[in-house]
Amino acid sequence: MSKHSFVHIYAGVPVEQRERRRAFRASHSAKTLLTDMLISLSVISALLSGCIVPISPSSSLTSPPAAPTSTASPSPIPTASSITTLPPIASPIPAEDTLPTIASPVAPLTITILYNNVPFDTRLTTDWGFSALVEYRGQILLFDTGKDGRILLRNMQLLSIDPTRIQYVVLSHAHGDHTGGLGALLEVDPQTSVYLLPSFGDSYIRQVQQVTGVIEVTPGQPITEHILTTGEISGAIPEQALVIRTPDGLVIVTGCAHPGIVRIIERAVELTGVPVYMVLGGFHLGDKSEAEIATIIGDFRRLGVQKVAPSHCTGERAIAMFATEYGEDFLRTGVGSVINVKE
Ligand SMILES: [Zn+2]
Ligand SMILES: [Zn+2]
Repeated sequence: MSKHSFVHIYAGVPVEQRERRRAFRASHSAKTLLTDMLISLSVISALLSGCIVPISPSSSLTSPPAAPTSTASPSPIPTASSITTLPPIASPIPAEDTLPTIASPVAPLTITILYNNVPFDTRLTTDWGFSALVEYRGQILLFDTGKDGRILLRNMQLLSIDPTRIQYVVLSHAHGDHTGGLGALLEVDPQTSVYLLPSFGDSYIRQVQQVTGVIEVTPGQPITEHILTTGEISGAIPEQALVIRTPDGLVIVTGCAHPGIVRIIERAVELTGVPVYMVLGGFHLGDKSEAEIATIIGDFRRLGVQKVAPSHCTGERAIAMFATEYGEDFLRTGVGSVINVKE
């Protein structure tokens, strides 16, 4: 994928998209509206996936589905029934690897990692990307959707998670390994509201609006009483992170942390004035040297981050260094991990 085509996505609507939209307005039914959206998601996924720094061994990376070259024979919309074509269930994980649980009695915050290239629960499909289900004080929110909707829904099914209970979807940034599952999710849960950044572009935002409600986020925008987004943090690839206020401090969930994991933490603290309890998700440190990672870990300590749960694009070396530095406060997480933060 060329840099030019990447810029093209962000700069506006290409000619071929304008032509397609004209034809779309003239002839498409409500059903093909959703199909078109999924095609565009696939195109975006394919175009942008080349921008993702491959940090894990190449064998653990799975290419996104090839983008269709025309709208004449659109890819079928993934459905719940198509999920059964995925690999059979493997043996369950050892008991000691379940539920990294922190502190005392009640469990008002539960974060379940539904999509990750880091393996954990061997019953689930491991694939490049990130998605996490956040359940807090009666609210259920999905942060990112992984790359492939069939895998996302299949992993939910294996964990007995009903996708129709999801009230909000927040997408961290416009990379296919975080947005690719949205179409399949909206097919089974069209009532959910989707929180998008302005940097997703008008064309993408309009396509999602054809299916459900879209909220374009502003900095520090609340999603529920206790959950907010950082809003768009600028950079070559703009991004937002999820911030959950708990009595222990902030729990910050990041997708890829392209603008810099330390900048994201600093933004969350600036917005809330609350110290950080835990940072979880992709830290994007695969291209960093040992010295650079050590500096970043020092920044985590300076900012008072008590616990860390890095995965996805963090990189194996950085994950190992965080594990050494944080010891018992490092949570080994991957697909299927359930993190309970108890009060
Ligand atoms: Zn990314
Ligand atoms: Zn990513």
